[in-house]
Amino acid sequence: MTDSSAGCVVTGVPNFPPPQDISELVGFWDAVERGCIALPACPDCGIWQWYPLAGRPCGHPGELEWRDVDGHGTIFTFTRVERAFLPSGSNPPYTVALVELDETPGIRLVTVLVGPGSADPVIGARVTLSPNKFETHTLPTFSVDAS
Ligand SMILES: [Zn+2]
Repeated sequence: MTDSSAGCVVTGVPNFPPPQDISELVGFWDAVERGCIALPACPDCGIWQWYPLAGRPCGHPGELEWRDVDGHGTIFTFTRVERAFLPSGSNPPYTVALVELDETPGIRLVTVLVGPGSADPVIGARVTLSPNKFETHTLPTFSVDAS
């Protein structure tokens, strides 16, 4: 599968640009552009907050801060997309997964799996952040670790 509309070759990854109009997510997408995952946490007690909201869930005053996490986790669940359901930006087949990161138990990111093993993963499989760079943006895709 090739998507030439974005000016680069992409295999099996839907090309959905990140939203530009949600200020609470800027820290997340800035980290993805650096090839990392960052999530918001309270700088006083360390509690994570996903999705990011104004204020802190623990009640401490002030704003959350963005902290990089290591990008390793496990597949919580997944589904295989075989047919395009949107008019553009989709390039099936691909596998959408919910990944629970090691450092942030209970927080699950929606992602697309890439590389070997991405077509037939298993729940609980180990995954590693493997960002997919498009011409204009980067998406936080994950690869399945070799077992
Ligand atoms: Zn706190």
